[in-house]
Amino acid sequence: MDFDLIVIGSGPGGYTGAIRAAQLGLKTGIVEKYPILGGTCLNVGCIPSKALLDSSEHYHFLEHEVKNHGVDVGKIHLNLSKMIERKNKIVSELTGGVNYLMKKNKIEKFQGHAQIISPNEIKVNSKTVQTKNIMIATGSKPRALPFAPFNKTNIISSTEALSLQKLPKSMMVIGGGYIGLELGSVWKRLGVDVHVVEFADRLCPALDLDLSRALLKTLKVQGLNFYLSSKVTHVDSKGKKVEIVFEQDDKSQKLNGDIALVSIGRIPYTENLGLKNCGIEVDEKGFIPVNSKYQTLVPSIYAIGDVIGGAMLAHKAEEEGVAVAESIATGHGHVNYKTLPSVIYTWPEVASVGLTQEQVKEQGMDVKIGRFPFTANGRAKALGCTEGFVKIISDKNTDEVLGVHIIGPRASDMIAEAVIAMEFSASTEDIARGFHAHPTLSEVVREAALSVDSQARQI
Ligand code: FAD
Repeated sequence: MDFDLIVIGSGPGGYTGAIRAAQLGLKTGIVEKYPILGGTCLNVGCIPSKALLDSSEHYHFLEHEVKNHGVDVGKIHLNLSKMIERKNKIVSELTGGVNYLMKKNKIEKFQGHAQIISPNEIKVNSKTVQTKNIMIATGSKPRALPFAPFNKTNIISSTEALSLQKLPKSMMVIGGGYIGLELGSVWKRLGVDVHVVEFADRLCPALDLDLSRALLKTLKVQGLNFYLSSKVTHVDSKGKKVEIVFEQDDKSQKLNGDIALVSIGRIPYTENLGLKNCGIEVDEKGFIPVNSKYQTLVPSIYAIGDVIGGAMLAHKAEEEGVAVAESIATGHGHVNYKTLPSVIYTWPEVASVGLTQEQVKEQGMDVKIGRFPFTANGRAKALGCTEGFVKIISDKNTDEVLGVHIIGPRASDMIAEAVIAMEFSASTEDIARGFHAHPTLSEVVREAALSVDSQARQI
């Protein structure tokens, strides 16, 4: 055999899994169809969206907030091409970093579309490579509306929304999930009139309802327009404009704008991958079925990340890639999905881990709930962002933390404490008794933990 493991796809799942395999002594290769490594996450996902979120946050801060700090800056000008250029530079530095990591770990790179020929063979371009194991990490791509394919000019996906060269006057975002809300926020902050049309009766239905409601409220205050319980039935590109039609409360409504951003989810990518050559069938949604060790029907072929379904998140893909590498090398590999955090990088941010209040109710669990607002936190006041709260759900009998839900400034960083606490089956008392440096935003997490037993001190 030429290799112990060939990884197909260089997104966060694939490249991290490849590194772990190489660290464990497996002779590893990675195949990527694009010349640049990094997959969706680095090229058209997590990283470019966060670069634009940070840039647009600065713009918005200078325009609306900085004066509250006693700083007068005069008229602000947007240099959109520079902003996009900066985002591209960050992407290229990070994708270059993945390239370096492949070299450092002696992982052989193949550029081209990989096709699986047999349980131990893949073909890239015209070259056949023999391998003991294969890890499919081919990710996902944006889902289009069945009646409105992307035209990449005014009916666009997140990929194009990350590289607009000209500021549109208006944008209609179809889908109020995290990608639509993050990109809608970017363009709203830069001055675009943003309208979000969502099929469900709430934003991000998987979120704890309190957070979903708070997020809707705050984004409305920021000037985004929302149409919930609304089913889009037509999207028509009419020259430079787009018209969308949606049904809300049995009434048909129309919106016209410059751009329709379709962010209704992503679909697994298995095109021309050769699954049928090994008898592997995808499920009704197109995902590759795997067992608890991420093995497909063929034991030497594993699959991880967006292509197997579950939460479509980079850190979930990473952990699965690592679990496969460890499973091949040591016989053991494991992912604890109970502590998988998810984050929405709006302002304020939203971050969650564990069970929501609705889930504990459905499961009939006896729980205690603590809650503490950022308005009572000194650091939040100093920052000038006191919106939001931390909510902690714990088991009524054992006090074990079951879920932590945060809407507030830098919630994305604060959720790490909750993840580690839950990883160690901590109680709210453990969180409350641990030091939290003063003044920090993380004190709100401690106060929420205290408030589970009505012991909050700062309110
Ligand atoms: P991908 O990253 O999709 O990588 C798959 C790779 O496989 C691609 O490079 C593809 O070209 C390659 N490939 C496919 N087929 C073949 C083949 N046959 N041969 C060779 N190569 C092939 N997640 C977060 O956790 N946090 C975020 O903040 C976040 N923000 C996002 C923002 C946006 C706008 C988008 C679109 C996504 C975001 N995500 C975020 C989701 C995240 O990007 C994905 O969950 C993650 O990239 C999935 O990783 P993966 O390794 O499974 O696949």
